[in-house]
Amino acid sequence: MIIAIDGPAGSGKSTIAKLLAKKLNTEYIDSGAIYRTITLFGIQTFAEGCEGNESRIFELLKDNPETIKISYEDHTQIMWLNNENVSQKIRDPKVTVQVKYIADHQNCRELVNQSIRKTAEKYSVVIDGRDIGTIVFPKTPYKFYLDAKPVIRAERRAKEYSIPLDSPGFEQLVKSINTRDKEDKERKIAPLRKASDALLIDTSGLDIEGVLKEILPHIQPLKS
Ligand code: C5P
Repeated sequence: MIIAIDGPAGSGKSTIAKLLAKKLNTEYIDSGAIYRTITLFGIQTFAEGCEGNESRIFELLKDNPETIKISYEDHTQIMWLNNENVSQKIRDPKVTVQVKYIADHQNCRELVNQSIRKTAEKYSVVIDGRDIGTIVFPKTPYKFYLDAKPVIRAERRAKEYSIPLDSPGFEQLVKSINTRDKEDKERKIAPLRKASDALLIDTSGLDIEGVLKEILPHIQPLKS
C-alpha cells in the first residue's frame, strides 16, 4: 500500500503522514528530507554551495551511493550523510534556502525518486512531498493534497520553532513560506500541484484528529 500526501510547507503533511504510518503500521518516508540531505551534501562539498553545482552533486552521489543512507526506526526516517545522523542539521535555514537548486534538477529528482520507489517495493509506506501523487506514484489510489491559508501555515511553523508571532522572525517566516510556495508551484519539473484524483483537505480549521478523520475512511475500507 502506498499513501501519497502532498501539499505546501506547513500544511500539516509530515505530522499527519507520521501519525498515519504509526496507525497503519507502515513506514513513513519524508521525501523533503532526502532533498534536504542532498542539499546539505552540496553545501558541505562546494564552498559556493549548490547553485551551479547541481550536476556535479548528482555525479558524486551517483558514483558514491553510500554517501547518503536512510534508516527507518519506529516509523521515523533517519537521514545519514557520510555516516553522520543529519536529521536535525537538514532543518537549518541555509539548507531551506538552497534546496530549490536540487529540487529543480531532473537527475537529482530521479535519485530521490529511485530511493523512494526502492523502499516502497519492500514496505507499505506513507510518503509526504510535493510530487508523490503526480509523478512518483501516479497510480496509487491513496492520494491526499493538504493545504491551509498561508498565515496559518506560517503560524504553525512559528510554533514549531518557538518564534513569537509579533517578532520580525515571524515576518521572515511568512516571506520564506511565500517564496517557497512560489518556487515549488512554478518549478518546471515536477511542480507542486494537486493530482486530479487526490482528495483535497483544507487543514486551516482542523486539528490533527480532524484531518485524520477526513483521511482514514478513504483508506480503511480498501485496506485488505
Ligand atoms: O518538505 P520539506 O519542506 O522538507 O521539503 C523541502 C523542499 O524540498 C521543498 O520546498 C521542495 O522544494 C523540495 N521537495 C520537492 N519534492 C518533494 C519533496 C520536497 O521538490 N517531493
